[in-house]
Amino acid sequence: MILLDGKLVSAEMKLKLKAEVTEMVAAGKRAPHLCAILVGNNGASETYVSSKVRNCEEVGFGSSLIRFDSDISEEVLLDKIHEINDDETIDGLIVQLPLPPQINVQKVTEAISPSKDVDGFHPTNSGRLMQNLPAFIPATPYGILMMLDYYGIQTEGKTCAVIGRSNIVGMPMSVLMARNDSPGNCTVTLCHSKTKNLEQVTAASDIIVAALGRPGFVKENMVKEGAIVIDVGITRVPSATTKSGFKIAGDVDFQNVSSKCAYISPVPGGVGLMTIIGLLKNTMAAAKKEISF
Ligand code: NAD
Repeated sequence: MILLDGKLVSAEMKLKLKAEVTEMVAAGKRAPHLCAILVGNNGASETYVSSKVRNCEEVGFGSSLIRFDSDISEEVLLDKIHEINDDETIDGLIVQLPLPPQINVQKVTEAISPSKDVDGFHPTNSGRLMQNLPAFIPATPYGILMMLDYYGIQTEGKTCAVIGRSNIVGMPMSVLMARNDSPGNCTVTLCHSKTKNLEQVTAASDIIVAALGRPGFVKENMVKEGAIVIDVGITRVPSATTKSGFKIAGDVDFQNVSSKCAYISPVPGGVGLMTIIGLLKNTMAAAKKEISF
């Protein structure tokens, strides 16, 4: 079994990004700048956003964090987004989800200029992704592609079960694994909460991407010998052994599944770290205006 080591791969990729930023600045250009908007004070969102900002600093990107109270109106939030869309010193804009109920997430998603949409959630970017046109790919699927690529994993002709069909992970992942590209060219089954005989589908698949948010869901009997297993799940579960009182659990029963796998990504230390790389790479691409809309 080979561990898909997000720590190792992301550290290497961050060094490359840092070198690229140094070159840009030496050539008299501005370093890429990511702006994050955080509404309210959800614990997990705070953690994610501060990690994104910290990683920007690590590679030499500029970053700004705009905070709003949870009772902010939709109008004020949309006005801020429009202001950032027009700000030429900001390359990428993300609005951390979830948002409070008075705010329409779809309106927010569509308010962000596609050229600054480094989360890749805008319909323009997801539409372009569907057609295999240059687009900002959502950070988690993008990170997984980079991980597969780094380990030289051949995906062409393989069967792939993606569990979960969210717009953020499962749906784009299924499209990316099916498209005529590398990584890609898989025969994909997109599984979800209404899928019947899911165990049979996964047990027959060469690649499994688990993105449903149910700790330990993928069990030994659901995985065939020599499979490639990518665990996207991040769920906080209570723990008596950590200071915070919780630990992070993935969607795969790693202890029992790993020995059957050719490759498997751990949680933590796997896809989560690659997601950050996806976001940083998108921000770099936005700064360089690599994708024209
Ligand atoms: P979501 O809640 O939006 O979607 C979950 C999907 O799983 C749904 O499509 C649903 O149909 C499917 N599902 C739920 N129960 C199921 C079941 N019993 N059988 C089959 N399918 C089932 O979730 P999301 O935003 O895609 O996130 C999924 C998981 O990935 C979560 O744990 C989340 O925290 C994690 N996540 C991790 C990263 C990362 O960087 N590692 C990034 C985003 C999300």
